Order: sequence, then C-alpha cells, then structure tokens
Amino acid sequence: MKEDFDFENARVVQVIRERACRKVLLQFPEGLKRRAPEVASALSSLTDATIIISGDQCFGACDIPATDADLIVQYGHLPIPCLETPKSVMYIQARSSADPIPVLEAVLPRLSGTVGLLTTAQHIHFLVGMADFLGSKGLKVLIGKGESRLYADGQVLGCNASCARAVADKVDAFLFVGTGDFHPLAVSLATSKPVFAADPMTLEVRDMSEQRDRLLRQRHAAIERARSAKRIGIIISSKIGQRRERAAVAVVGMLESAGFTAILTEMDLITPAKLDTIGLDAWVSTACPRLAIDDSASFRTPVLTVPEAEILAGKRAWENYILDEI
Ligand code: SF4
Repeated sequence: MKEDFDFENARVVQVIRERACRKVLLQFPEGLKRRAPEVASALSSLTDATIIISGDQCFGACDIPATDADLIVQYGHLPIPCLETPKSVMYIQARSSADPIPVLEAVLPRLSGTVGLLTTAQHIHFLVGMADFLGSKGLKVLIGKGESRLYADGQVLGCNASCARAVADKVDAFLFVGTGDFHPLAVSLATSKPVFAADPMTLEVRDMSEQRDRLLRQRHAAIERARSAKRIGIIISSKIGQRRERAAVAVVGMLESAGFTAILTEMDLITPAKLDTIGLDAWVSTACPRLAIDDSASFRTPVLTVPEAEILAGKRAWENYILDEI
C-alpha cells in the first residue's frame, strides 16, 4: 500500500491570495520533508508569492520559527489551542490516505473489553470510522477528551497524553493507530495500562510494555548519574510552545534547596555540542520533555525531565515516576 498525504494546496493558495502574501515559509516535519519540493513548486506555480522551504527541523506545532514571512504553513501538525500562535501560522495536518482497517483486523485478537482509541493528526479523520469498526467487533471503544494543549479528542502528542489519562481508569488497554513509537510510548508512560501500537502502513502491531520498561531503566540510571553533579543547568526553551520559564525557575529553587548549584540557560535547538560547550555536570530540560528521554544516548551528561529532577531533589519517589507533560 502506498501512503499519500493531503497537503491541501488549494486551501493554502486561497489563504496566500486572500492575504496577499508575498513571502511564505513552509515547515515540514522530518518524515514529510521529502515531499516539500513538490508542494513548494505547486504553490509557486499557483501564486505570485515567494515560497521558501524551511530546512530546519520542525518538531511540532510548538515550534514556530522567527521569520519575516507573511505566512508560515506548518505541515503535519494540528494547532495547539492553548498556545497564542501568531495569525501568520497556518496548520495543515497532512491527512494520511492509509486505510486503518487492515491493521485493526490484525490487532483484534489482542483486544478485549473496553479499549481507549488514540491517534495523531495524520489519522484523526479516521477516528470515528475506526471506533465504529472496533465496536462492530464487540469491543467497547472510548475516545478521551484531552486538555487544552490538544486540538482533537483522541489525539496524542509526545508531551501530552491527557486524552488517554481521561479514560485510563475505564479501559482495559489502549490502542494507538499511527506510525512509530514516539506517541504510544507517551501513552504507556502516562498510564499504567497496556498499550498496543498499530501501524496502518506496515500492519505491524507492537505491545509497548517492553519499551516502557527499558526506558524506565535508562531513566533511573540517568537520575542516579545526576546525583554526583555539583552544577546543574536548567534549560528554558526559546520556542514559544516549549517555553516553561516558571517551571524552570521552580526547578532552580528545588535543586538549590537540595544542595545543588542550579544555573538557568536559554536556547532554541538543544544539541549535545551546546551543552558540552557550557560544560555543566548535568541538565534539566524544561523544553520538549521528549528531548531528555528520546535523545538521551546522544548527550554526554545526564539530561533530566522536570519530574525526574523532583526525584533527584527528593521531592518525588521513583515509584511515582510520571511522564513530563506540558
Ligand atoms: S513539546 Fe515536544 S512532544 Fe510536545 S508538541 Fe512540541 S515537539 Fe512534540
């Protein structure tokens, strides 16, 4: 099966014309970047605007670049409702064409009772159809309503699994339909329920429990390594949707009370080289919480999330480990 995405060129062209935009910046997540040239060419041929592809990584709807473009078109993400996003940003969720029914057939034998159904921006238009299909097979399906960081019911972000938490005590398991482990891992860390990840393209079904256990072992080791640190850097993100300055200041106070020297730093893209150059013993990131978790192997010094810093400071028991959610 070949997967295609709806880049909604006609809608983008309409907005460019209505707003008489002269310069338009296109942002694509890494997984869709290969499609950027064809989208840019199509928009160029249909409008008089200068169309520019952003070559920088775009991690999420939280990630709006500073630019003098009249319009930023961000593909692959839904808006974050609680974020004061500039009017010049337009989100195109890039709906996938991948039919989810075959992978639902594949996952059926592993499900029973009540299932919490979750997905991402690319597949959310299939959510009701997926729930109907699972319901027709005798399952009770719940679609949770999330907090104001989430645009749609049943949506999950790497930093917010509130749609799952909303129904966690009523379900036997969660079913995530989509690509990759990034989102189902958030659900697995945010709830204690079994999580099955079903990929509509590869038809692969994975139980996330092993990954969750491995990741928790790694996180425990990172916290233990940070115990020998004297000076700890607290990272504030300059990205508007990842900025948690108040949380960062609170972490400083907490770590200072626990006997560490805590130093605030601010940056946009967080890289191992930048951290090495500043040269502190450990870090706490109040930026995208997945950076500390998913990129841990690339950092020479431990990088902790906010709840992990609470464990380090003795304010939270390891048994109460939680996903750092924004
Ligand atoms: S903070 Fe991280 S996980 Fe959350 S939307 Fe942004 S990039 Fe995704």
